[in-house]
Amino acid sequence: MTKTPHKAGFVSIVGKPNVGKSTLMNVLVGESLSIITSKAQTTRHRIQGIINTDDYQIVYSDTPGIMKPVYELHKSMMRFVSTSLEDADLVIFVADLFEKYDEEDVIKKLGKTDVPVIFLLNKIDLAKDEQQVMDKLAEWESKISPAETMVISALEEINTQGLLDLVLKYIPEHPAYFDKDSLTDKPERFFVSEMIREQIFKTYKKEVPYSCEVLVREFKEDPKIIRIMADILVERDSQKGIIIGHQGKQLKKVGTSARYAMEKFFGKQVFLETYVKVEKDWRRKEQKLKNLGYNQ
Ligand code: GDP
Ligand code: MG
Repeated sequence: MTKTPHKAGFVSIVGKPNVGKSTLMNVLVGESLSIITSKAQTTRHRIQGIINTDDYQIVYSDTPGIMKPVYELHKSMMRFVSTSLEDADLVIFVADLFEKYDEEDVIKKLGKTDVPVIFLLNKIDLAKDEQQVMDKLAEWESKISPAETMVISALEEINTQGLLDLVLKYIPEHPAYFDKDSLTDKPERFFVSEMIREQIFKTYKKEVPYSCEVLVREFKEDPKIIRIMADILVERDSQKGIIIGHQGKQLKKVGTSARYAMEKFFGKQVFLETYVKVEKDWRRKEQKLKNLGYNQ
């Protein structure tokens, strides 16, 4: 018997707020082995969920990537956050029954990309009749030409069964991008480091953020509070100074906003400690990357 080749790929879920992207994610990720939890409702985060089985790995995300690969790390990072329309293997474009098709920029982008698009018309459980669904579909199909179209209800799980099969059809043969074991093992750490990184990118200019990596040393969840200790690794002393800032102000800003994001994400109080450490040339050290969870 021949074994089916392993598939892996990135799927970008795009669409306006409130059309049901997060609900859809929960359905897609479902009961399978995955790093998403029911707490993961945030759409600010790049990676929404990863589905792992023996045969495939699907990485879902719903905001555009911001980084261009420069160093080795960035290349592996891009595999992590390979979320822009161009980088995805598949785009799922979600609209709902009530939305006006006024997303000119998304439509334009979808028109330009070579990435296959699945168009989902969501919330059909709220349709007053079939005609309403057909009319809405016709409106959209005059604007975009998706590879596939489905009408679904993410909430009521109507037609969602077939969606995974449809998604898999567009996922290429590829080895897993993420270590399946380590991810299912420590998903929270991954999200935490990503949330700190997001704040670093927001807080510092130019190339400084690219020289940083975040290593979550401790993640302890108590009933009422999560205690997190994280190192921000930089390559030079000068960068350490920039990250910390005058009287520690900048680092405090990063810590506070990251903590806020974490509290929203986990729905729980978070105590976050961050330390800045200089690790010369960590960027090119492959083993280090592996330790940090980058697998390529
Ligand atoms: P997002 O902003 O695109 O991530 O949308 P959410 O997944 O947060 O959903 C927005 C709202 O629409 C929530 O109240 C959902 O419960 C609701 N919703 C999502 N999908 C459906 C659906 O298929 N039918 C109905 N009736 N409501 C839905
Ligand atoms: Mg959402």
